[in-house]
Amino acid sequence: MYSEFYKIWSFWGIPVYIHWSTALFSILLALSSVLLGIQMIFFVLGVLFLLLLHEYGHAFFARRFGYEVEQIELFPMFGVCSYETPNDEYEEAIVVWGGVVAQFSLFLPVMLLLVVMGMSPFPVLNALLFVFAYFNVILMGFNLIPFPPLDGTRAWNLLPIYVQKRVEMREEKKGRFPK
Ligand SMILES: [Zn+2]
Repeated sequence: MYSEFYKIWSFWGIPVYIHWSTALFSILLALSSVLLGIQMIFFVLGVLFLLLLHEYGHAFFARRFGYEVEQIELFPMFGVCSYETPNDEYEEAIVVWGGVVAQFSLFLPVMLLLVVMGMSPFPVLNALLFVFAYFNVILMGFNLIPFPPLDGTRAWNLLPIYVQKRVEMREEKKGRFPK
């Protein structure tokens, strides 16, 4: 079934599969390091780490609500986290936000570090800082565009769902304690 995928990792009981095109794409980009410098390898590793972090963000929130997380797949520019479909649209919207939340939790400290300290004297480290701050914020923005299959398609439902949930809770309270 997974002949097109290679299992590269299993962390927190979640197997991570990498699609062959991701492997090929990564190797080609890393090979370009011959021309562009060793930092290209770190750029590629940083992007893969970011994609992985995003999917683990979905996995974290899915597990928090008690849903089964099956696997994570990595493609060249995106990942897929397969989890049991939540039976509550509020919980689903939170799980959808999980990916961007995980990215943001890396973006914030790295961006603060860059604002205070600036780039380092080490090109290899700078490649990672660049990915975790600038590339990261672009990826987050892109992912939140409301266009399938991006997370933005479902993420923005959270606000109306939350408002409705609050209204329902208030109604319930009123019903329980009649004046
Ligand atoms: Zn996502």
